[in-house]
Amino acid sequence: MPDIPTVTLPSGVSVPALGLGTWNMGEDVRKASAEIESLKRGLDLGMTLIDTAEMYAEGGAEKITGAAIAARRDEVFLVSKVYPWNASRQGVIDACERSLKRLRTDRLDLYLLHWRGEHPLAETVAGFEELRRAGKIGAWGVSNFDVADMEELMIVPEGKNCAANQVLYNLSRRGVEYDLLPWCQQREIAIMAYSPIEQGRLVRNDTLIHISKAYQATPAQVALAFLLEREGVIAIPKSANPDRVAENAAAAELEISDEDWAALDAAFPPPTEKRPLAMI
Ligand code: NDP
Repeated sequence: MPDIPTVTLPSGVSVPALGLGTWNMGEDVRKASAEIESLKRGLDLGMTLIDTAEMYAEGGAEKITGAAIAARRDEVFLVSKVYPWNASRQGVIDACERSLKRLRTDRLDLYLLHWRGEHPLAETVAGFEELRRAGKIGAWGVSNFDVADMEELMIVPEGKNCAANQVLYNLSRRGVEYDLLPWCQQREIAIMAYSPIEQGRLVRNDTLIHISKAYQATPAQVALAFLLEREGVIAIPKSANPDRVAENAAAAELEISDEDWAALDAAFPPPTEKRPLAMI
C-alpha cells in the first residue's frame, strides 16, 4: 500500500493528504457499480478521505458514497458540503440531516459551506456549531473562500473554528500560493485542493508528459505529487475507474528531483501578484 502523507486538522485529527472526489458520480445508474468500486479501491489503498456534496447529482453522489462506505464507515473521513442557499442556521441543520440519510451514516467528519451565498456567515457558523455540539459533524469548514472572505469569517463568533477551505488548486492554478495558502498554513486551516488534475486536462500537458516519463510515472501522478509536497494541502482527485484510482494513490511514492521541480516552476510559474481566487 502506498505510504500516503497526512495532514493534521486543528482538532488534532490526522487525515490522508490524498483523498477521493465524487463530482459527477451518481448521475448514471449504469456507472454506479464502477463508481462504488473505485471509491472502495481508494479506501483499500489508504485514500480514506471522501469528498462529496449535496449538489453532486442532487444527492446521487452522496448515495454512491453511502454504498461504498457501508460496513466500513469507521475507516473513512467523510466530507460533504451544503448549498449556499441552504446555509441559514436551521437550513444547515436540515440539509445535514438529508445528507446523513443519503450517506447512510449518523455523522459527517467535516461539513463545508460550498461557496458564499446570501446567508450571513454568522448564521451558517451558528448552524455548523449546533451540529458539532450535537455530534452530527466532527468539524466544519468552507469552500471557494478567498483571503478577504476568510478574514470576515474570523471575526464571526466561533468563526475561528473553521478547519478547512476547499479551493481550486493545481499546477495550472497556482494563484492561492500568493496569499491564501500561506494565510491558511499560518492558522493551520487545511487547504483541500479540488480539481487537482484540472479535471483531467493536466494529463495532456507536454511538460508533465515529459517529466513523468523520467520516473516511469504518469502526468496525473506528477500533478498530484506537486500538491502532496505542500504543507497542509489535501488533494482530492476524482476517478470512476479503479485502475486510475490506484494510479493516483501511487503518486504518494513519487520523489521528484529539485531539477524537475524547477522545470515545473518554469512551465507553471508561481504567482508574483494577487490573483482573485479562481473557481470551477
Ligand atoms: P479532477 O482534477 O479530480 O479530475 C477528474 C477527471 O480526471 C475525471 O474526468 C477523471 O476521469 C479524470 N482522471 C482522474 N484520474 C485520472 C488519471 N490518473 N489519469 C487520467 N485521467 C484521470 O477534477 P474534479 O473537478 O472532479 O475535482 C476533484 C474533486 O474535487 C471533485 O470530484 C469534487 O469532490 C471536488 N470539487 C469541489 C469543488 C468545490 O467547489 N468545492 C469544485 C470542483 C471539484 P475518470 O473518472 O474517468 O477516471
